[in-house]
Amino acid sequence: MNATPVRETDVLVLGGGAAGLSLAHRLAGTGRAGVLVVEPPDGPSRPPVRTWCFWDDGTCGLDGVVSASWPRLRVHGGDGAAHTVDPSPLRYRMLRSTRFEEYVHARLAERPGCGVLRATAGAVRDTPGGAEADCTAPDGSPLTVRARLVFDSRPLTALPPARTRLLQHFRGWFVRTARPRFDPAVADLMDFRVPQPVHGLAFGYVLPLTPDHALVEYTEFSRTPLTTPAYEKALDRYCHDVLGLGAFAVETAEQGVVPMTDARFPVRVGPSVYRIGTAGGATRPSTGYTFAAAQRQSLAVAASLAAGRPRVPAPHGRRALAMDAVMLRALDTGRIDGPAFFTGLFAHTPAERLLRFLDGGTTLREEWSIGLRGPVGPMLRTALELPFLPRRSHPAPRSGDRLP
Ligand SMILES: Cc1cc2nc3c(=O)[nH]c(=O)nc-3n(C[C@H](O)[C@H](O)[C@H](O)COP(=O)(O)OP(=O)(O)OC[C@H]3O[C@@H](n4cnc5c(N)ncnc54)[C@H](O)[C@@H]3O)c2cc1C
Repeated sequence: MNATPVRETDVLVLGGGAAGLSLAHRLAGTGRAGVLVVEPPDGPSRPPVRTWCFWDDGTCGLDGVVSASWPRLRVHGGDGAAHTVDPSPLRYRMLRSTRFEEYVHARLAERPGCGVLRATAGAVRDTPGGAEADCTAPDGSPLTVRARLVFDSRPLTALPPARTRLLQHFRGWFVRTARPRFDPAVADLMDFRVPQPVHGLAFGYVLPLTPDHALVEYTEFSRTPLTTPAYEKALDRYCHDVLGLGAFAVETAEQGVVPMTDARFPVRVGPSVYRIGTAGGATRPSTGYTFAAAQRQSLAVAASLAAGRPRVPAPHGRRALAMDAVMLRALDTGRIDGPAFFTGLFAHTPAERLLRFLDGGTTLREEWSIGLRGPVGPMLRTALELPFLPRRSHPAPRSGDRLP
């Protein structure tokens, strides 16, 4: 009987999506050798092309792969009032997953012992001095990859138990309009001029690329995703009735489901095995944003490895997670009016401070000043009841992105 071949590497990254690629990129950036990313071959098991957006002050080092950016942000309240803000020195940026992947793969190919292995990872086991993963190559042949450190970004099949689990679920169209309809200097983060669901909230999201080209999304924060026809109907209504786009063509679509939960995601799951990305709790519960947290964590991990003291910090601080748990529960119970809550945040908080708050970078004093302008009574009541609520298991949402 043939023994399974073994490949050795220093750092093994399972899953080459947003978090896995970000970590590999930052490790390569510190000159590290021996970084292997395992990603399934092209086909149905890989997520479709996606856009990842984040805000940044220009120091992220990803400008070469940023496909668009916006100096101003806008939120439309349910009453139609527009709040346009300038978060400088921060700017909202968009990456296309294909471009980011090409870029990181090319950088890894330049480094000794680094690269991407097209394979599907299975079980991960601890070994003396590290860990190993069973992998299956595209031709079905098995391979064991052994490493000193393993970072696992593969989607979880079940979420850790939570008191609240909402989903951020959406579908977006890249539209081409017959006439110029968009202002490429302004990104609409939340447009509440759409009919609100009975439970949770809904909003439009518009990222203009040129005056006649934009990504337009319909998003809900609620318990259950919609069917594709229901998203399409909501999008069509938003494009015609709210945005008044007139004639337009849909070029491509993207769709997703992102967990918004107060579950506790363990980061270290073995002596040398760490979870990263959504699987490791990098998705900010109150917003669904993940990409920026993955950058911060990746930079910290790369710096700690370069200094010879491996350290994988939690992607979000405890205070941020505690505040998000209250907000999610208050939204889920209907105690706060979601559109009014988010519109109020944008209307009353300086934009740069608000975005720093959403990145977990504000001081306690700043957080008090933000919190005191919100619905204090319902939030306080929710905060007091949280410690007594049980945590329940929930299946992980399918990562989304099934497109017809
Ligand atoms: C359509 C969409 C748009 C989004 N937009 C934003 C945004 O604008 N900003 C933001 O901050 N967040 C956004 N998110 C949320 C979040 O950033 C993304 O879901 C992000 O991709 C999460 O990164 P990840 O590395 O955890 O997971 P993924 O990027 O999904 O990466 C997981 C990887 O694991 C691989 N994999 C799966 N199984 C195996 C296996 N057995 N072996 C090896 N590899 C495996 C997959 O192929 C995949 O590449 C979006 C999500 C979606 C779905």
